[in-house]
Amino acid sequence: MISKSNKVLISIAVGVLMAIGGVLACTPSKEAPSLPPPAQEAADEPAAEPQEPGRVFAADDLSNLAPDAPDVPVYDKHTLAERRAAGLPTALPDITPYRTGKTVYLTFDDGPDDKNTPAVLDVLREAGVKATFYVTGRQAEAHPDVLQRIYDEGHAIGNHSYDHRYEKLYPDVNGFLAEMERTDEIIYGILGVRPLILRAPGGRIGHFTAAYAPAIRANGYVEHDWNVSSADAAPGHPVAQDFIDNISSETDQEVAARTAIILMHSSEGHEETVKALPKIIELLKAKGYTFGVITPMTPQPW
Ligand SMILES: [Zn+2]
Repeated sequence: MISKSNKVLISIAVGVLMAIGGVLACTPSKEAPSLPPPAQEAADEPAAEPQEPGRVFAADDLSNLAPDAPDVPVYDKHTLAERRAAGLPTALPDITPYRTGKTVYLTFDDGPDDKNTPAVLDVLREAGVKATFYVTGRQAEAHPDVLQRIYDEGHAIGNHSYDHRYEKLYPDVNGFLAEMERTDEIIYGILGVRPLILRAPGGRIGHFTAAYAPAIRANGYVEHDWNVSSADAAPGHPVAQDFIDNISSETDQEVAARTAIILMHSSEGHEETVKALPKIIELLKAKGYTFGVITPMTPQPW
């Protein structure tokens, strides 16, 4: 026999449970495909960008690039073509680079390959360190699984042109941008995101005319060269110990005392870089650096 007051309590309890169930049912699961918001609604108030732990996605209006963690990669969920078609901004707002103390950025150019890049990733995982990989479109096409691994393991991915051919990149800024956008599309096709960071093959010095900086910014990119070189691509077959020595002495220089951006390569033929990497990380830790990844907010190396 259930008393009247108990009946009331039960009906309240059932009501609460149904309400909770309703809330749960309305909460989209992670697996559920996300539908684009209706156009009018998006125009009134842009929906918050979904974020994943360990990375930041640029807001539609590129307004959320304020940094709080120098080791969290930043990507765009739209290609440039999508931004143009939707009338979204492509130019980055004014960004004040952060200064977070003594930070080193390991950067690996020209990959991914299927040998040295996975070996570099193994070393980084073992050391608990994040890095930045400036990839070419051609290599990303050839090794999409390695590109995916770089992304999944929380490293930053930057654009390094389609195939590194200077005659297509310099000195015609439109050729440069076309190569970068082509590479973005390839990366986007694999990962569903576009990098906002790029590195000019060979560096900007001696390559960029005055037209490059505004054009790069107008397309939502930030370019970073380096201030410390392992010289692992120097002629004469340098070996692992040379890279360790180069990095050791160059990080003693004033210019790298707070922000050290180190140039290395993870592409074919760079087995010596893989060999040197554990010692390089060890010596940088001993010098008191923390490890960051390149984002649009990373200070320039000079
Ligand atoms: Zn390169």
